[in-house]
Amino acid sequence: MLNESEADWFHLDVMDGRFVPNISYGLPVIEQISKTTDKICDVHLMIEEPERYAEAFKQAGADILTVHWETCVHLHRNIQQIHSLDMQAGVALNPHTPVHFLQDILQDIDLVLIMSVNPGFGGQKFIPHSLKKIEELRRMIDDAKLNVKIEVDGGITLDNAKQIIAAGADVLVAGSTVFKSANPKETIRQLKNAGESFQ
Ligand code: ZN
Repeated sequence: MLNESEADWFHLDVMDGRFVPNISYGLPVIEQISKTTDKICDVHLMIEEPERYAEAFKQAGADILTVHWETCVHLHRNIQQIHSLDMQAGVALNPHTPVHFLQDILQDIDLVLIMSVNPGFGGQKFIPHSLKKIEELRRMIDDAKLNVKIEVDGGITLDNAKQIIAAGADVLVAGSTVFKSANPKETIRQLKNAGESFQ
């Protein structure tokens, strides 16, 4: 269904039961998904010590690997590792982590993932303050004339998608909104249309 849909990327949430209070899936599932699609595999690591697994995720088919700011003491080294494995590198921020913490790494990354819910579970409500973070990050990226994508993850619905795009988001992640709808393909199309007027 997703292959036939207008979705651009597969966003894959990997949870370790330590950094977040939930365990999702790991390498074998991602390997199977990447084999069954030509779409971009965007892997979001909600795990501690992501450097231990970066190479394995590359082998499993990840095109983009996003690590959490909160888990990386040597974030610059993590980014170098991901790039050396020929993947795009993203940094995710929890709701309480300010975007200005990225000031000295922004030029080295391809994507920032703004968590608009607390990571760990699907089906949560969008935290409204996330809009201010997206706007601030958009200014930082534009002021520095960088080509860094802003991806927003958590609580995205057909009702708030337009507002999130207007704040400066490039990529919307949707789970429950798509999979709990009566017609997922149509819901994906409507989410994509929410962005058309801004392009
Ligand atoms: Zn995610």
